[in-house]
Amino acid sequence: MRRKIRVGGIVQGVGFRPFVYNLARELGLSGWVRNDGAGVLIEVQGEDLDAFVRRLKSDAPPLARVDGLSVGGIAEHVGEDAFVIDLSGGGAVMTAIGPDTAVCADCLAEILNPNDRRAGYPFVTCTHCGPRYTITRKLPYDRPNTSMAGFVQCPTCQSEYDDPADRRFHTQPNGCPVCGPQMTMKTSEIVDRIKSGQILAIKGLGGFHLACDASNETAVSALRERKDREEKPFAVMVKNVSAAKALVEMGETEEQLLSGRERPIVLMRKKPKTGLAKGIAPGLKWLGVMLPYTPLHHLIFAEDPDLVVVMTSANPGGEPLVVGNREAEERLGGIADAIAAHNRDIVVRADDSVMRVIDGAPTFIRRARGYVPVSIKLPRPVPPILAVGGYLKNTVCVTRGDEAFLSQHIGDLDTPKGLRFFEETVTHLLDILEVEPELVAHDLHPDFHSTRFAQSLGKPTLPVQHHYAHGAAVMAEAGLEEPVMALCLDGFGLGSGGGAWGGELLRIDRQGFERIGHLAPLKQPGGDLAAREPWRMGSAVLYALGKESEIPIKYKENNGSQMISQVLDKGVNCPETTSCGRLFDAAAGLLGVKPKASFEGQAPMLVEGMVSAPKVLEGGWRIDNGVMSMLPTLAALAESNPQAGAELFHGTLVAALTDWLVWAARQTGLKTVCLNGGCFLNAVLVEGLTQSLREQGLTPLIARQSPPNDGGISLGQAWIAAMRADG
Ligand code: ZN
Ligand code: ZN
Ligand code: FE
Repeated sequence: MRRKIRVGGIVQGVGFRPFVYNLARELGLSGWVRNDGAGVLIEVQGEDLDAFVRRLKSDAPPLARVDGLSVGGIAEHVGEDAFVIDLSGGGAVMTAIGPDTAVCADCLAEILNPNDRRAGYPFVTCTHCGPRYTITRKLPYDRPNTSMAGFVQCPTCQSEYDDPADRRFHTQPNGCPVCGPQMTMKTSEIVDRIKSGQILAIKGLGGFHLACDASNETAVSALRERKDREEKPFAVMVKNVSAAKALVEMGETEEQLLSGRERPIVLMRKKPKTGLAKGIAPGLKWLGVMLPYTPLHHLIFAEDPDLVVVMTSANPGGEPLVVGNREAEERLGGIADAIAAHNRDIVVRADDSVMRVIDGAPTFIRRARGYVPVSIKLPRPVPPILAVGGYLKNTVCVTRGDEAFLSQHIGDLDTPKGLRFFEETVTHLLDILEVEPELVAHDLHPDFHSTRFAQSLGKPTLPVQHHYAHGAAVMAEAGLEEPVMALCLDGFGLGSGGGAWGGELLRIDRQGFERIGHLAPLKQPGGDLAAREPWRMGSAVLYALGKESEIPIKYKENNGSQMISQVLDKGVNCPETTSCGRLFDAAAGLLGVKPKASFEGQAPMLVEGMVSAPKVLEGGWRIDNGVMSMLPTLAALAESNPQAGAELFHGTLVAALTDWLVWAARQTGLKTVCLNGGCFLNAVLVEGLTQSLREQGLTPLIARQSPPNDGGISLGQAWIAAMRADG
């Protein structure tokens, strides 16, 4: 018997041909395997062909993803007695680039073995692990198109690379201490400097980190002082899972996520006594932890297994991550005491991914290194579309066939460097996917840089309302095109007729959306300032409740509190907003939790952290003609202590949203509801709401492959463009 087998998916550059070769030899089969433009093609003949086909899927190498496997019978060859790797198809027709992956166990064993030729070498890699996306300039994925181009393999490395049975067969970034990249600083010196309290800039996979000893109070506060003076939490790196368990509460899902090959930062509940410096995550109940993922990280912890190292993105001033060596000297020179760089260029910038387990499953806060450019599967092939996202926490999205490729986290488009990164990312993503978009989707907001960029491309464009996109992102993930309800709760998105939206109840179908409800508008005194100063939202609520006389007393510490009633009287710079983020800010302001936040979303996070048992205030909300108001609850918060108030707010919000959605389900005759927007990173809200919606016979869906926050906007835009293009 002889068969022709076509394998599609992620099967190139991941050690698939050596795997096929070894499998065929093990089963005593003859034939050949080769790469081609569509994946891997195999001809095989012999006895045990069923086992061969079965194991092609079940035993595939760790980084492979077999999406399609078709088997056809063909005529036997006479006189063929071996199985070979046929290189005529070229090792150079990569149709996809893999994500960057944590160093594998085999490579790790080599660098920790003093007798290995790669002992202590921080750039070990093989077909099962190492850098991919961040070192690749363009297709095909071949050494000359990566930042390994300048490194010529030594004879020993070359023989690994050429040997089909070797795990480094065609490993493009292969190298060793003789021929590969080098660090500018010895590992022992890095560790000594960290332990002596210095701040180090360390070049990694997708960018530089700023690192220091997480238990050293002086070092951590110096880092905060020099970096940005904000209170944004720092992530820490520890040697392994058991070291992490000394710091945080960890369930099984968290443990798997933390030690998975993508190696994201995982947010987990901090234990009461960690011995870490107070400045790491001030006031927050969570700590972001990650495990070593580059060989260098492992070598650092081999020097001192007890270290806990702050590893924060080197992105001073909220600008994109530093990637270049000269750039590091310019931008990090004033922050770091020393720079540990290397001579392998980072071609594509990628931050660490950040995740949190919500309702029993991983949720993205930031999707980047380790996950990009893995695609999100769509339910059917769609036209080639580019979607450019929004403004904050931006990503872009490109469709090819039935796949949507979400870019890595780009960040806020509010600095020239951020804009350049955005444009580079669009170009690079289109290049490596070889896609020429037919349609460009963008936000409704005319002033966003992403909108102007979309309009400058000279292609048909489609403006998409922000919350419509949030809802559609969940539809894309779930493969839905039929009408659904969407509850979108977030900070800010421009509404259809202008105005600030952010607490929206929509009905979405293939052709468009209808706003069937929204949160009762709150005044936002000071405009955008109110997003950073929850006392302003608290004041707006007190004013609405007729308690303006309390404002100057309650908020006497805050500049402007004596005047704010007059500001509200006159309505100067007091736009109305239906934002749920601002509703959370109002709750925080009323509870006095954080009158002035240091970054958007900080106050709501603090309020969530206070909840242990949510409680419902009967009569705490009103629904009138689709408009839901929490004003009675807010009135109660004004009289409440912080923890009791936080619990009352969360419990009542869940009950109110459920009530609202049950009403909407009756109105629309629909049962499925997509929950999306940044507020759905709040685990208390998600867990409470999904459970109570299920109890009401509704089907809640949440984002799992894209971030619920604005990092998922581009996916939703793309899916809307696809539905409408074909509808
Ligand atoms: Zn490896
Ligand atoms: Zn070598
Ligand atoms: Fe949003």
